Amino acid sequence: MKGAVAGLVLLAFAGWAQEAGAYQCKHSEDSEYLTLHWPERRIEYAVEQGFEAPYPVVQAAFASWAVEPCTDLIFLPMGEVAPGSELNLVGAIREGWQDAGYDPVAVAVTSTFYEPSTGQLRRARITVNDEDYDFIDLTRECGGGEQVYDYGAVLTHEAGHFIGLDHTSVGAGDKNDPTMAPTVDPCDREKRTLAPDDVAGLCRIYPTGEPAQTCLSLPIQARYVSSQAFGCRANGVPGPAWPGLVFLTLGIGLLRSRTCGRVRERG
Ligand SMILES: [Zn+2]
Repeated sequence: MKGAVAGLVLLAFAGWAQEAGAYQCKHSEDSEYLTLHWPERRIEYAVEQGFEAPYPVVQAAFASWAVEPCTDLIFLPMGEVAPGSELNLVGAIREGWQDAGYDPVAVAVTSTFYEPSTGQLRRARITVNDEDYDFIDLTRECGGGEQVYDYGAVLTHEAGHFIGLDHTSVGAGDKNDPTMAPTVDPCDREKRTLAPDDVAGLCRIYPTGEPAQTCLSLPIQARYVSSQAFGCRANGVPGPAWPGLVFLTLGIGLLRSRTCGRVRERG
């Protein structure tokens, strides 16, 4: 089964062009000014029982986003919990990845629930595709065609989605591309370490001692948008309001090689 994905990858990347830019933030479907964000700076998460990544590797992946002095974001690991817990979760799927509706070439995905009128995140889940790919805690040199993915690199990327970041549009496919580049190589450990572009996105949303900020600067004057960050939403536009939370899934894709293109992701 794991070998079957390669053919899909080769067919899937055609026609995708990289855009110029920098870090990107996810926004509410209500307004592009409503950056998705956690309302609190202390965010709990737990690991689903049976998840094979070493617990310290999971903790380090989240902690990467909490050590910069420009932010006061903190993650609180809550240990292991049974599947189905209502906590924010990190886990894996070993069977039925596509049946769950996930992109068949995604290495991992992060699903978030948010309130569309505010962009406030309420719950998130990171899911690793353990059906189609092999993961290890990469503590050695790796290469020569090995098809193993580093838990730390993949989970650090997904933790970026967990806090509201989208894929950056710079550096994808370069050796030192940012953690939030949309693809990951086998044997890549570099995404464990945030690049300046990742830190810029993190600290834009969660500046130390200040309320969460929108990534897209509000216009000075706009007829349909009030000028209050995270309080704004489109006014006077007809249509039914969302009755509840909105669901969003983002993931990191597979980069087969630098010469054969890359995979466009579900987002
Ligand atoms: Zn991703």
